[in-house]
Amino acid sequence: MIPLIDLAAQYHSIKDEIDRAVLKVLESTQYTLGEEVAAFESEFAAYCGARYAIGVNSGTSAVHLALLAAGVGPGTEVITVSMTFVATVAAVLYTGATPVLVDVDPRTGAMDPALVERAITPRTRAILPVHLHGQTAEMDALRAIARVYDLVLIEDAAQAQGAEYHGTRAGSLGDMACFSFYPSKNLGACGEAGAVVTDDATFAAKIRMLRDWGQEGRYNHVLPGYNYRMEGIQGAVLRVKLRQLEAWNEARRRHAAHYDSRLAAAGIRVPEVDPGLRHVYYVYAVRLDDRDGVRERLLRAGIATGVHYPVPVHRQPAYAKLVRVVGDLTETDNFAAQTLSLPLYPELSDEQRDRVCDALLKTCASQPA
Ligand SMILES: *Cc1c(COP(=O)(O)O)cnc(C)c1O
Repeated sequence: MIPLIDLAAQYHSIKDEIDRAVLKVLESTQYTLGEEVAAFESEFAAYCGARYAIGVNSGTSAVHLALLAAGVGPGTEVITVSMTFVATVAAVLYTGATPVLVDVDPRTGAMDPALVERAITPRTRAILPVHLHGQTAEMDALRAIARVYDLVLIEDAAQAQGAEYHGTRAGSLGDMACFSFYPSKNLGACGEAGAVVTDDATFAAKIRMLRDWGQEGRYNHVLPGYNYRMEGIQGAVLRVKLRQLEAWNEARRRHAAHYDSRLAAAGIRVPEVDPGLRHVYYVYAVRLDDRDGVRERLLRAGIATGVHYPVPVHRQPAYAKLVRVVGDLTETDNFAAQTLSLPLYPELSDEQRDRVCDALLKTCASQPA
């Protein structure tokens, strides 16, 4: 069986370093925040080309706190997308604001900037694009709109550690950027973790307080806050893994390039990458009309696949009534119906990758997709 991702292979490739880093934290007893988290914050900020990174306990918390720092709350609106993991939209709801969902670019699955202006109202406070699958959204156009309407531009960069937009890294493309270090992400903790990255000292200071009960100095609570602190062990693990991230992203890109050339030659729709963008392939998704049939046949051939995401947020029972949809989200629905995520992770062997191609091409040839 070829898995969609293989966290055991990643752990075993750096086991000694990870084990040592974890044991060091156990001895230090800095179990929450502490030196390892602080060191990771400065290293990750530098990696993103930004001034500040604030470590938190999940990507969801990162989005929640970035929105709060932007002044998002009850009576305000945030423009975002439905083609995302539910956390993006849920974090908007945590603040009491209304998520306003626009359709995506059919090529990339990221927010279509041409649809944003008509979604703006006097209550709009922020724009929250998602760098879907590891490719940055169309940030120049979104930044221009944010400037004109005085909105805060927040990247949901949970899937895009190391992605680049015309030479600038995700994390430096908006006013704030939110990262998840969920274990499956390109940079993943051994547990839950996330971070907000920003160049803005005021946002950074506010988020630093909010993640730790709104304290300014011990027991001086100046903001109603949260217990969203990053654990010391996760900071230590992430420091070790950050040193591998570029090599891992390059391995992902190398596999993706092979998938691209073999699959596109056979007429399969491969991910579209805009010129000047560095896709880091958190997900490698092809587009197929008979997606579910192909998925079933690949499974029988011993190949696991995924779908990111089969049901867009505006069609989820928990969220359908809580969001405002602008337009008809046709491209979002197409994306949900057609995308199939193939096995892609740095430790995937060339032989495994070629087996995935063989099986997919055979499947599509036998029953045209
Ligand atoms: C993973 C993810 C999140 C949530 O991150 P967690 O660390 O799981 O809370 C948010 N947005 C997107 C786009 C994600 O992929």
